[in-house]
Amino acid sequence: MKCILDLDKEQLRHYLATTQQPPYRWQQIWHGLYVSYFQSWQEFSNLSQDLRKELEQDFSILPFTQISEVRSDDGLTHKVLFQLSNKNPIETVLMQYDQRISVCISSQSGCPIGCEFCATGKMGLKQNLSSGEIIAQILYFSRMLKEQDLEITNIVMMGMGEPFLNYSEVQNALERLNDHEGINIGARRITLSTIGIPSQILQFAIDFPQTNLAVSLHAPTNHQREQLIPINKKYPIEEILKAVREYIHITNRRVTFEYVMINAFNDNHEDALLLAELLQNMLCHVNLIPMNNTTAFSGLPSPIDRIQAFQKVLTNHHIPTTIRFSKGTQIQAGCGQLAGRLS
Ligand code: SF4
Repeated sequence: MKCILDLDKEQLRHYLATTQQPPYRWQQIWHGLYVSYFQSWQEFSNLSQDLRKELEQDFSILPFTQISEVRSDDGLTHKVLFQLSNKNPIETVLMQYDQRISVCISSQSGCPIGCEFCATGKMGLKQNLSSGEIIAQILYFSRMLKEQDLEITNIVMMGMGEPFLNYSEVQNALERLNDHEGINIGARRITLSTIGIPSQILQFAIDFPQTNLAVSLHAPTNHQREQLIPINKKYPIEEILKAVREYIHITNRRVTFEYVMINAFNDNHEDALLLAELLQNMLCHVNLIPMNNTTAFSGLPSPIDRIQAFQKVLTNHHIPTTIRFSKGTQIQAGCGQLAGRLS
């Protein structure tokens, strides 16, 4: 059965026209789905029973089932495992820190990129998610937060998958998340994270100039990066940075670089100097992230004194940085830890 969340406004209007409904009907349905967060057709009390029955026969509202959930001891991180009807997993993480309520969503089940340090990458790609399956992750937490009079403030597309390899569905989802008549989360509060696919970075600049872009760089040389991210052979650092400079030129927006710090692998003084050279005079910010332990990779996180020394080099070269400790590592909800199971 089709999921109603996969329809955009035009498709919904078209469907309703074919069932001889008045033109304003789509707004009632849209509002019920994206503002009231209804999850069953029976909750749409402003629709006739006949229409509700018809909708029930044609469309589901929930595209997946929640299988399990786990919360960190401090209650601030909450990871949920969903399952699609074909049993493919999706993981989504809610984080409540620093006055922000952020949801980290997935764009694919599994991931084809295969980064060495990432548990999701080790799963391979199970499937692309549809726009409805992406949006439903947000609606799940919106419903839960509504009961506490809270709202999501930020969205990061940084969960399972490489969003630029599922771009048309991601594009539909981003438009819907930003929709003023629906979920209405400002573009500047949404961040898309990519491994760096140059042509898509340029397309994203044109399609979503207000949405934040984060690029996972992780190493200052192709030789090092290829050992972490096999696709670097196809999209080397120079091409990615050329596209990022063009992105900044088009959007005039600061780009975030994610840099996973792995002890004695990419955290040497020399690495910091090379990185500073690569990013010189670029409108950017670097997040230094101590690697999270996963069973997928034997590397170790850099000790804090090495991270601070690395940061100092970048700061001396006027490159803004933040040391970011991943949230939710205790429940395997940190970057690179989503493995499609909650063990
Ligand atoms: S880090 Fe991101 S791009 Fe790399 S394998 Fe994991 S999910 Fe895919």
